Amino acid sequence: MTDATQGPLHPDKAGERGEPPEADARTIEIRNRLAAVRTRIAAACDAAGRSAEPPQLIVVTKFHPAVDIRRLAGLGITDVGENRDQEASEKAGKLSDLDLRWHFVGQLQSNKAKSVVRYAHAIHSVDRAQLATALGRAMATERERTGRGPLECFIQVSLDEESAGHRGGASASQVLPLAEQLSGSGDLRLAGVMAVAPLGSDPDRAFEKLAGISARLRAEYPAATAISAGMSQDLEAAIRAGATHLRIGSDILGSRPAVR
Ligand SMILES: *Cc1c(COP(=O)(O)O)cnc(C)c1O
Repeated sequence: MTDATQGPLHPDKAGERGEPPEADARTIEIRNRLAAVRTRIAAACDAAGRSAEPPQLIVVTKFHPAVDIRRLAGLGITDVGENRDQEASEKAGKLSDLDLRWHFVGQLQSNKAKSVVRYAHAIHSVDRAQLATALGRAMATERERTGRGPLECFIQVSLDEESAGHRGGASASQVLPLAEQLSGSGDLRLAGVMAVAPLGSDPDRAFEKLAGISARLRAEYPAATAISAGMSQDLEAAIRAGATHLRIGSDILGSRPAVR
């Protein structure tokens, strides 16, 4: 863990690489918001009797500048999430001196697979066979080039059957066929499932449904234990339902700037 009070590593390149001034007002704001979110996570884990295995916190940094991600790294954050390839690859390039894991959490077009595998540790939004095929091909090339480990893949499930397919997310019946495809690729690793609670629905009910889908997946693929669920508004419900990965944006970084 990096000490937030340490000065920039390369002060001469500070501006260019988005180096934050030490403990500036924004860093303090993020530190306080992060502490509040960590308190909520700890309380929810306590209440659910799972303090021994807290979920992995992924800070969703979309729309926020690279300098904020550098601030987060200084505060001990190791995992960040982005939802647009161009924005993510630019930030990952600027921050390549940091030891961060990049999680892609947005809808992904197959033609972006080659780009995304250059920086992504995990894709949380694998929702169709064509995308899995493209990721497998891109990853095979990337691993030949770099020798890195397989790409972690989460199957995104739509918890709102009506929107399955067009708003992102496979239907529940597509999960096992996709799992079979992912687990057949040596360059991809089937991590588990991911979902977003549908707008206006009860998150406890939505995440219980996801937990059921995860249980059916694990019956066939015991190593696919991950459940990526829970955002700023519903992290407690996600923890109650067994989430292993939380994706929190606005409660840590504030509301997203209106302009991209
Ligand atoms: C933006 C986003 C998040 C974070 O949402 P907040 O409400 O800002 O915490 C989580 N997951 C996905 C898929 C997102 O697009």
